[in-house]
Amino acid sequence: MRCLLFICALLGAAQSFALDRYSVEGYQLPNGLQVILKPGYERDHVAIRLVVGVGMDDFTCADQQLPHLLEHLLFSGIDDTGEGGLEARMQALGGEWNAYTSNADTTFVIEAPAKNQRKILDLLLSLLTRTQLTEQRISEAKQVVEREDGGHYSHLQRWLDRQDLGHSASNQLAVELGLKCAERAEVQNLTGKELEAVRNTWYAPNNMTLIMVGDLDRLLPAYLERTYGALDPVEPSEHLPLPGIEGKAQSERTLVRSVVGDTATLHWLLPEPVIEDQNDETWDLLRDYLEWSLYSELRLKNGLSYGPWAEREVFGGVSFLSLNADLARDDVAQARQVMGELKDRLLKDGLDPETFARLKNAAVARQAWGVQGNSALADYYWSALGDYDDGRFADPSKRLQAVTLEHANHAVRAVFAEPGYVRIEKPLFSYNGLSVALAAVFGVLVLLIVGWQLWRHGKR
Ligand SMILES: [Zn+2]
Repeated sequence: MRCLLFICALLGAAQSFALDRYSVEGYQLPNGLQVILKPGYERDHVAIRLVVGVGMDDFTCADQQLPHLLEHLLFSGIDDTGEGGLEARMQALGGEWNAYTSNADTTFVIEAPAKNQRKILDLLLSLLTRTQLTEQRISEAKQVVEREDGGHYSHLQRWLDRQDLGHSASNQLAVELGLKCAERAEVQNLTGKELEAVRNTWYAPNNMTLIMVGDLDRLLPAYLERTYGALDPVEPSEHLPLPGIEGKAQSERTLVRSVVGDTATLHWLLPEPVIEDQNDETWDLLRDYLEWSLYSELRLKNGLSYGPWAEREVFGGVSFLSLNADLARDDVAQARQVMGELKDRLLKDGLDPETFARLKNAAVARQAWGVQGNSALADYYWSALGDYDDGRFADPSKRLQAVTLEHANHAVRAVFAEPGYVRIEKPLFSYNGLSVALAAVFGVLVLLIVGWQLWRHGKR
């Protein structure tokens, strides 16, 4: 009996522990470094995320690769042994690391054995403070960044980008609307001086958040205060304002993709108007609803598309909701008609209450199992930093619950009030079209040869 009670208590504890995902031990060091600690699910492992508040959006188009190039340089070594020596140190500690530069931040992602967590944090700190940005290292890092971006930016690629042929449909629209840089940012003309400036301006404790989830060392807070707490804060810099819609875009365009093929992809992109309460959750639910509607209409009822999808994407300061379908080339017009009818029905009757309730329940339920394990939890905190306040992350399931059918109907009317933008991606020729064209060319050649022979005979 006692044993059973013990197991019940244990299960109860585990359950309350699992429920408490949104509560963390969060505090700020005197130098401004934000620390978020969470004892995690698995033993012997710690997931570390150091988020630095500088991303590509903090720079003009020409300089956008600066934070990315700096991120690479910070892995170039802390002494004469260079990047190989640095990597070997990490291997000796049994951890793995990587880093990512996005539009909004630069983040160092580390998975570490719990027993070496402090040594690994030491290594991360020396990478931040001791890396020398020599000319040699800068030119090597430039090559790597260039390769990551798909090799040297050739004249042909630049020309294609200028013609909007090198971008995906949503990116193409974003360029047309002035929300995104038209050309790929280059690295060759970035200088060591500029890189040092980025490091001095943005890589400061008061612009960083350290997230640690897992089997945390009991001495961690004291250790952090002694080490990371010694970093000097800087005068905070302002982020550049995000671009809004400036240019005018064509309401409809066909984008050529490859030379020959019988498929096409249809995109209908709609800027999301900002709505008052639960903006993100409302649009997320609406995306789920539209994806389900596309699936029932385009696949189940009409068999036009195998995997139609709805998507949300942010460019600059504008968020887009899109309806998309992979199609046979000849079915584009029919699919557009089906999408148009779907819109008319939604505007006339609103969302189907039963379907909306079902999808909302599914979205709420997903919150219970969508984040599993230390690493996923650390990534979740990273993605939700905007919803963090004083030891607590906002609970998304509560906010999803708060989205009512009226709310969603209001959003549907708002988003379909504007016509949006249609982009059709397809190859230059269909196979049929190409066969006909080739047959015609062949026919003309035959006629020319026969004509020439007749002319020669006639002359003789
Ligand atoms: Zn990179």
